[in-house]
Amino acid sequence: MAEHDHEEVIVVQNRETGLRGFVAIHDTTVGPAFGGVRILPYASDSAALEDALRLSRAMTYKASLAGLPCGGGKTTLVDHAGLRREAAFELLGAMVESLNGRYFCARDVGIEDADLEALARTTRFVGRDPAPGLGDVSQHTAIGVWHSLRACLEAVGIGGKARVAIQGAGSVGAWLARILSREGMQLLVADPKEERAEAVSRETGALVMDAGDILFADAEVLAPCALGGVLNAQTIPQLRCRVVCGCANNMLATLEDGDAIAARGILYAPDYLANAGGLIRGADFFVLGVEDSGPSLARIYERTHEVIARAKSEGISTARAADRLAEARLKPRKTHREMTWRGTVRAAALTRAE
Ligand code: NAD
Repeated sequence: MAEHDHEEVIVVQNRETGLRGFVAIHDTTVGPAFGGVRILPYASDSAALEDALRLSRAMTYKASLAGLPCGGGKTTLVDHAGLRREAAFELLGAMVESLNGRYFCARDVGIEDADLEALARTTRFVGRDPAPGLGDVSQHTAIGVWHSLRACLEAVGIGGKARVAIQGAGSVGAWLARILSREGMQLLVADPKEERAEAVSRETGALVMDAGDILFADAEVLAPCALGGVLNAQTIPQLRCRVVCGCANNMLATLEDGDAIAARGILYAPDYLANAGGLIRGADFFVLGVEDSGPSLARIYERTHEVIARAKSEGISTARAADRLAEARLKPRKTHREMTWRGTVRAAALTRAE
């Protein structure tokens, strides 16, 4: 918690329902923490905690870089045989409700519609999609990835039709495939749940590949749209693409892997820059009351160019350039928080003195 500077981490545990997990609130200095609920068969509670800590911090960076009036949070739950899913999600919802709007949750990996319905029975602070007014969050994420990819293709001088390998045909991957096929891109797709890859193929004409081969496909663009950590010391030397741009969170195993990608001459669109579309839609809808997020999503295009230019001028990786930009925007927030805290303490001291 100290390493990542978290505001609060809540342990959720209930014997009757088997609920086990963590709600990590990284930063609420400028507004409520936004972040999805992820459920996976984590090998240990520590693995779930680590995931919540890293992902919630990334959400703060994502919000900061996107200039949004919100911070980062995340919930990770351990999926296991003894989990009574519906009751567990209702309990989690009650906990989120007790935070009274400090944390807004939504869908993330492993979440089914029934889970969101259970959450919505006990909390108002859940983004259900598709919902009236909010729209489909995954579709917004995919539109954001497309804006980032447009900038990347321009930066590496690929005009027109590129070949794009999409890893993961889930909610966002499928939307990205639809958008890219409309733009005339040639698509390759893979998912261990083969029926998902087949469905995308039927809709978009994408060529289905084996999930084990897609990272190293002969394509100009790799779009990781599954889980994190796919860019690491083993995979990077084997990549054949010129651009990596997708929606997966925490694609890089380490920050140094961003340096390794840059050293190979591959342009990496920082994950939290490219995949901010869903968060942008959430903030527009819940905090700012904006109906059409088209213009806010399109700003990802300019921001991607900004990050690429900064990386070039400072001779650093795009991953580091994005971190620097996000941190520069966070600095005034931290100062603001310290001032708020000092003000509260002073007010309390005055009250006591009276
Ligand atoms: P999802 O669960 O709907 O889809 C993920 C897909 O990846 C699944 O179909 C799964 O079978 C597949 N997959 C798993 N391992 C794979 C592998 N080795 N090769 C190929 N496919 C594999 O999840 P999603 O909502 O589409 O999110 C995908 C990623 O994007 C996650 O990392 C998530 O955190 C991130 N993300 C999602 C959103 C959003 O709006 N949903 C926003 C920002 C970031």
